[in-house]
Amino acid sequence: MSKVYLSLGSNLGDKQRNLSVAISEIEQRCGKVELCSSFYSTPPWGFNSNNEFVNLALSITTTLEPLDLLNVLKHIEQVSGRQQKAKSGYEDRPLDIDILFYDNSIINSETLTVPHPRLHLRLFVLVPMNEIAPQLIHPIFHKTIETLLMECNDSTQICKI
Ligand code: ADP
Ligand code: MG
Repeated sequence: MSKVYLSLGSNLGDKQRNLSVAISEIEQRCGKVELCSSFYSTPPWGFNSNNEFVNLALSITTTLEPLDLLNVLKHIEQVSGRQQKAKSGYEDRPLDIDILFYDNSIINSETLTVPHPRLHLRLFVLVPMNEIAPQLIHPIFHKTIETLLMECNDSTQICKI
């Protein structure tokens, strides 16, 4: 059984509902949801859009191997109405699910990088993670989430809903 941390985000449609549906899909298809953060409202990151994001972090226990888990999560994203990526970069989406940590694993495959390579740069990931796992240690930086949050230069507004 592996312990996995996920970041979920939505900035289209009924965002909180998209996330609630995603959480129950994850529970049905991937494994037990152990901890779930509050919902946070954040401005779009890395691209221009008028749509605010709603973000959260959660932990699950799963028997799925990393690439199988990624495929199931992509399926859940697609079912939620997300279109195939038309351009590179960031865009509006009803549901985005990222794998932040998979146990202590360091994975660098063509389709999967774990820990997520940008998690330490993003308040919308670190703030929800700090709510559920402040003492979790990043297996590459050897720092806790709490420390990564203190050291993060991201200054975007993020507030609990
Ligand atoms: P982003 O989340 O960076 O905005 P996408 O959700 O469109 O972009 O993801 C693009 C691809 O990133 C996915 O198809 C997946 O194969 C790859 N990927 C690499 N590492 C991860 C990870 N840790 N979690 C989720 N997807 C990942
Ligand atoms: Mg993603």
